[in-house]
Amino acid sequence: MDPQAPPSQAPVFRTHMVENQPPPLVPYDLWATDLPLREAVAREGGAWAEAELAAYGRIAGDALMPLGVLANENRPKFKPFDRYGNRIDEVEFHPAYHRIMELGVAHGVPNFAWRNADRPAAQVARMALSYLHNQADQGTSCPLTMTYACVPALRHQPVLAAQWLPKVVATAYDGGHVPMTQKAGVTIGMGMTEKQGGSDVRSNSTLAYPLGGGEYELVGHKWFFSAPMSDAFLVLAKIAGHGDGGLSCFLLPRFAANGARNAICIQRLKDKLGDWSNASSEVEFQGASAHLVGEEGRGVATILEMVALTRQDCMIGSASLMRQALTQALHHTRYRKAFGKFLCEQPLMRNVLADLALESEAHTALTARVARAIDASPRDPAEAAFARIATAIGKYWICKRAAVFVNEAQECLGGVGYVEETTMPRLYRQAPLNSIWEGSGNIQCLDVLRALAREPVTRAALFEELNRARGGHPAFDTAVASVADALADPEMLELRARTITERLALTLQAALLIGAGHRQVADTFCETRLAGVHGAAFGTLPVHAPMTTLIARALPH
Ligand SMILES: Cc1cc2nc3c(=O)[nH]c(=O)nc-3n(C[C@H](O)[C@H](O)[C@H](O)COP(=O)(O)OP(=O)(O)OC[C@H]3O[C@@H](n4cnc5c(N)ncnc54)[C@H](O)[C@@H]3O)c2cc1C
Repeated sequence: MDPQAPPSQAPVFRTHMVENQPPPLVPYDLWATDLPLREAVAREGGAWAEAELAAYGRIAGDALMPLGVLANENRPKFKPFDRYGNRIDEVEFHPAYHRIMELGVAHGVPNFAWRNADRPAAQVARMALSYLHNQADQGTSCPLTMTYACVPALRHQPVLAAQWLPKVVATAYDGGHVPMTQKAGVTIGMGMTEKQGGSDVRSNSTLAYPLGGGEYELVGHKWFFSAPMSDAFLVLAKIAGHGDGGLSCFLLPRFAANGARNAICIQRLKDKLGDWSNASSEVEFQGASAHLVGEEGRGVATILEMVALTRQDCMIGSASLMRQALTQALHHTRYRKAFGKFLCEQPLMRNVLADLALESEAHTALTARVARAIDASPRDPAEAAFARIATAIGKYWICKRAAVFVNEAQECLGGVGYVEETTMPRLYRQAPLNSIWEGSGNIQCLDVLRALAREPVTRAALFEELNRARGGHPAFDTAVASVADALADPEMLELRARTITERLALTLQAALLIGAGHRQVADTFCETRLAGVHGAAFGTLPVHAPMTTLIARALPH
C-alpha cells in the first residue's frame, strides 16, 4: 500500500443506515392531540378552561417530558445527617423534580379547582390538568394530589385552615427546608398506613399525648409516608388515655412552632418497583408536635374526605398512564413497517390499537364524569352520592386495568418497548401502583357494597345515571337489568364483590359513552364489554368494529 495515498474515502465505522424507526414523539401537544379528553372535558362542563389546558398540554408534551426522564433516572436520596453529624432527616431530590413541581403548581395541578371554586366544573378542568401532568411524570403526581386533596379535611379546623390553606392553594412552589412561615406555597402529605395495618386503618397504634389547646405530641410510626419533604402531613393517631376512643386526625408540620425540625425521624426510603421520582419513607414520630383536625375520635371520617379525592386522583393517574402508553403505541406503529406495510395498517395490529383506544376513551369518560360529580357535590346531594359510589367503582376498575393495558401498548413497540429510552418500562412499573395505594382492589369492591347497603342514595344516583342511557344499546339494557339482579341477591355478596363492581364499572362506562353520542364508539363498547363479543386479551374486537374511527379519534395524524 502506498504510504503517500490519501485516506480512503470509504466511510469508516459505517455499517448500515438507520431506517424504519419512528421520529421522536416529543415535543407534542398533549391537549390538542387528545380528542377523547377534550370531548370529555367539554361534556362535563370544563371547556371554559380551554386556554389553561391548552397551555399545559403544550408544556406537558415539551418541557415536562425530558424533566420526567431526569427525575426518574436520578432517584431521591435520603440524607439522615449533615456533614457534621447532626440529624437532618432530609431527602434530596434532583433539580428536575423541583422544576416539575414548580410547573405543576404554577399551572394549577393541585390548586386550580380551589382557586376557581366559584366556577362550575372547576374540578373537571383540574382533572384534565392532572391527566396531562401525569403523562410526563407520575411520581410528582403523588405530592400534587395530596396537596390538592387535603383541603376539605383541613377545613375542619378553621384556625389551621386560615393559616395553611392560602399557601396550599398558592401557585408558588418552594422545595426549601424551611418552616412554612417562610414560604409562599406549601405541599402536604398524609400518613395512615402502619406496619400492622393499612387497609385496616383502625389498627393504628400511634399515640397522641395532649398538651392542651388542641396541641398534641405524637409517638409512634408510619410504614408508608410518601413525599416526606412535604411541609405538613395529615396523620391518624389515637389520643393517649382515651381507651378505645377511636382515631383522631392531626396536622403534623415538618417544622415545629419554634422553627426547629419537628421530631419526624425518617428511618429509610422504600426501594420501590416504580414511582422513582417520588420518595416514600418509613418514619417514626418521637414526640412530634401536631394539631388536632376535626373532632376527637372522628379522625377516620375526617381523613376520608381527603381519601375520597386521592382515590379520584388514582383514577386520573391510571387513565392518563394508559393514554400515554396508547399514544406511544399509536405513534410507533404509524412509522414502523414490517412485512412491507406500516404496523398500524396490519389488520391484527389495527385490532389491538383500536381496542386499546376504545378502552382508554371509556376510562377518560368515567374519570371526567366523576370529577364533575365531585365538583357539584357541595350543592347537589344526588351528585355527591354519585361521586361517592362512582369513585369506588372507578378506582377499582380503571386502576386495575392499567398494568395489562400498558403491557399491551408496550408490546406494540416490540423489543424496544422493553427498553428504558422509550419510557414504556417506566409506565409499566408505575401501572400497578394506583390499584394498591389508597385502598387496594378488594377494599374498593367492599366499599362499593358498603355504600350501596348503608347509603341508599348512592344506589339511586348510580341507577339514575344508568337508566338515562337505557335504550342506547340492547346489550346495555340487559347488563343494567342483570347487575341490578346481582345486587338484589343477598347470597354471598362479599364473595361476588369483584364481579359486581366490574359489571357496574363497565355498564357505567357504557352509559357515559352512549350519552356522549358517538354511536360507533358506544356500540362497539357495549357489544364487546357487555355482550361478551370479546376475548380476554386486547385485539379481539369483532371484524365489523369501526377500527379506523377508533384509532383516528385516539390520535389524529
Ligand atoms: C408507593 C406507595 C406509596 C404509599 N404512600 C402512602 C402514604 O403516603 N401514606 C399512607 O398512609 N400510605 C401509603 N401507602 C400505603 C398504601 O395505601 C397501603 O399499602 C394500602 O392501603 C394497603 O395496605 P397494606 O399495605 O397494609 O395491605 P393490607 O391492608 O395488609 O392488605 C393486603 C391485601 O389484602 C386485601 N384485603 C384487606 N382487607 C381485606 C378484606 N376484608 N377482604 C378481602 N381482601 C382484603 C387488600 O385489598 C390487599 O390486596 C403507599 C403505598 C405504596 C405502594
